[in-house]
Amino acid sequence: MTTNEQLFERAQQVLPGGVNSPVRAFLSVGGTPYFVNRGEGAYVIDEEGNRYLDYVQSYGASILGHADPTVVAAVQAAAAAGTTYGAPTTREVELAELIADWVPGIEMIRMTSSGTEAAMSAIRLARGATGRSKVVKFAGCYHGHVDSLLVAGGSGVANQGLVGSAGVTPAAVADTVVAPFNVVPTLDEDTAVLAIEAVAANMGLVAPEPGFLEACRAECDRVGALLLFDEVITGFRLGRGGATAWSGVQPDVWAFGKVIGGGLPVGCFGGSREVMANVAPLGPVYQGGTLSGNPLATAAGLAAMRQMTDDRYAELEAKAVTLAEGLRAGFASAGVAAQVPQLGPLLGVFFTDEPVRNYDDAKAAADTGQFAPFFHGMLERGIAIAPGPYEVWFPSLAHSDDDIARTIDVAAEVATGLAAA
Ligand SMILES: *Cc1c(COP(=O)(O)O)cnc(C)c1O
Repeated sequence: MTTNEQLFERAQQVLPGGVNSPVRAFLSVGGTPYFVNRGEGAYVIDEEGNRYLDYVQSYGASILGHADPTVVAAVQAAAAAGTTYGAPTTREVELAELIADWVPGIEMIRMTSSGTEAAMSAIRLARGATGRSKVVKFAGCYHGHVDSLLVAGGSGVANQGLVGSAGVTPAAVADTVVAPFNVVPTLDEDTAVLAIEAVAANMGLVAPEPGFLEACRAECDRVGALLLFDEVITGFRLGRGGATAWSGVQPDVWAFGKVIGGGLPVGCFGGSREVMANVAPLGPVYQGGTLSGNPLATAAGLAAMRQMTDDRYAELEAKAVTLAEGLRAGFASAGVAAQVPQLGPLLGVFFTDEPVRNYDDAKAAADTGQFAPFFHGMLERGIAIAPGPYEVWFPSLAHSDDDIARTIDVAAEVATGLAAA
């Protein structure tokens, strides 16, 4: 058997930090990452044969759990017919129709191969459509690793303790303005777009306060800026209509990813017919991709999303509610200062008693140092959460009631240990 230790050693020889995305390297929790051999529903099994109940679920890309049989069959059938053509296919139309049908306000989409590309292209579209330069984003909101949006990016950017990134020029961020979440920024007539995770899920889970999104909408309208909802996490996870339907606030431009690919590399951005008419070849905003609208990704995405009825969303949310309540009770009885915000099927843990309404608050909670021992306590007992204090938990439909109950029991045991330490 090859151990995780040996694999990590080997990986570090050929991959920076041994990984292909920084958060996976365990930098903020210490220790050796487990190398996944396979996934089965709610579980992943590593190369040593350890079985983990998995709340990472590819950071939210898998809403049904790993290797859902319907998704697997759809991908197998698609692969057998060729994996990419460079010509349009029926499933791209079907996926676009489904998204336009489910999300209030979207009439057209353009597919990409990642959420980063989707957000990047949505920003270009907003700039092209308005003829303006400035982008306003919120601290702690992550919009992928595009230069101009990496500033105060939450998620892995936060775990690394980087403000943005080396290699990003001052010119690249000169038109980016960062505002605190849950405070309506004052925009001006140079502002092309206000970008937001309407429900922030890359600084832990931070909900918008009542009226905040409505006021952002009004402020954009006041100066003629576009509002961009980055729904890469919330899209088709909070419910069929994502954060848009949940909040009742409609942006002008959307970015999606994760769930819509059913676990394959994917993203898309969308908007009204009028806004999307700016995208090439209809309009002057260039955007393209060799693998965009990929036949495997559309097969997987459709197979996953077509299973997501309102009943299934309700089922998923119920799991999250039970889990959050159980975790809260466990922390409380152990005497550990913690909060478990939950919204729809998403939840997070902040190790603090103080309210968390923005990135600074989330950082203060991360700095208490409780996350790393909690993470390892859970992992040692067979429960995998994402290895960073700014990540949310992603229960999937494959998580059974027993899985949830065991998670609650284990977390209570780990919390008792934390309190004693
Ligand atoms: C994951 C994520 C992205 C980036 O998507 P990738 O597919 O990793 O490029 C963008 N925005 C949000 C809100 C995300 O959570």
